[in-house]
Amino acid sequence: MSFAQLGLTEELLKAVADQGYITPTPVQLKAIPLILEGKDVLAGAQTGTGKTASFTLPLLQRLAENHDPHQKPHRVRALILVPTRELAAQVYESVKIYGAHLPLHVEAVVGGASIGIQTRQLRRGCDIVVATPGRLIDHIQQRNINLSNIEILVLDEADRMLDMGFMPDIKQLMALIPKKRQSLLFSATVPNAIKSLAAQLLNNPVEVEVAKQNATAENVSEQVYGIGREYKRELLSYLIGSNNWKQVLVFVRTKHGADRLEKQLIEDGIRTAALHGDKTQGARNKALEQFKTGKVQVLVATDIAARGLDIEDLPHVVNFDLPQVPEDYIHRIGRTGRAGANGVALSLVCPEEAYYLVEIEKLLKRQIPRVADTGYEPVSLKIIDAPKKNAAHKDTGKKDMRHTKKPAARGAKPADSKRTDSKRVEARGKGRSGSRGNG
Ligand code: AMP
Repeated sequence: MSFAQLGLTEELLKAVADQGYITPTPVQLKAIPLILEGKDVLAGAQTGTGKTASFTLPLLQRLAENHDPHQKPHRVRALILVPTRELAAQVYESVKIYGAHLPLHVEAVVGGASIGIQTRQLRRGCDIVVATPGRLIDHIQQRNINLSNIEILVLDEADRMLDMGFMPDIKQLMALIPKKRQSLLFSATVPNAIKSLAAQLLNNPVEVEVAKQNATAENVSEQVYGIGREYKRELLSYLIGSNNWKQVLVFVRTKHGADRLEKQLIEDGIRTAALHGDKTQGARNKALEQFKTGKVQVLVATDIAARGLDIEDLPHVVNFDLPQVPEDYIHRIGRTGRAGANGVALSLVCPEEAYYLVEIEKLLKRQIPRVADTGYEPVSLKIIDAPKKNAAHKDTGKKDMRHTKKPAARGAKPADSKRTDSKRVEARGKGRSGSRGNG
């Protein structure tokens, strides 16, 4: 099946060809014809499935069909709501790319950027707005934007929006948008809360589900390294250096943890940047840019900061800390193995995190393979105590002496190791000096 068979117009087919896409992804195959028909759609599709194009392409086509070039200024006819600035930037870019051969105008409305510039742009008029809820409400209050002509509404990463507490904002916005409209709701997971949101917002929706719910991408190879917390950093540096990984997204739980790990990896000679909510928009953009262009090889990020990052062909994702919300594991892993590329997702799990690992595996309904020989003394990943909410995994920095034995020194041969000492030492040395040299 080709894009042409989906009923897209020449202008859009050209934009798709410009991107080098040959065949539509499953969510594009299912969603595009439905959206072109004018149906409301509830789609369960995670990042990396090609979901952005699956709503952007038909949305552009529908707007272009009834576009009046003489209407000045343009009325806002489509609103795409997203949870984060990063996702807004990514969707905005996609709209521009796919709409390159159409006379439609898009603006992004996000917090953290100049409200004055946005105001001028909105007053000039545009057809499509990509927005985070808070800043959009600011503009509505200042009468810079009017939502009464909206024909198509998209909620992207709706589960994220609910997690981040945007429900009241969404309700407030819905009261200002015409009831007669086409609504599209995209969400990585479709728990009951999303079904109930869909029931409120959508009219007789068609449900589209790609990749089974709660399944991670099939082309991502996942592994768990059981390791004492105090050796995680050393193991991470070793893995990056010895494998000569060029682009690794490392997830940590806290902003403080992100800054600390960034510093430690830099000390290990690995070019690293950190991305978290306390950084200014400028610093975030810079970190992302350096990562995308290969100036830094490691990006350390918190879940919130990483939401919506679109980095093509990201080969390695590492969970330095396990997420406490099992669904976040799926979101994190969704950063790799996109659109058919192969990805590797490693989790460094210490005994104190065993509970979260069990919760994740319950959600996945399968076990994540364990690495038998981590190069360190094995640790037990059996649950000791169910954690008190948010207390179990504090960054105390203290060692848990019950389960973490002293590691076998790197280069010293573990009793059951089949690898040779020299190989391991050599690999490590190479990686380290390599990353220093480039830094
Ligand atoms: P998304 O799920 O929207 O975040 O898209 C993931 C990545 O897949 C993006 O980098 C897109 O550029 C890419 N992509 C989207 N559709 C296709 C396609 N049909 N063929 C190849 N790559 C695609």
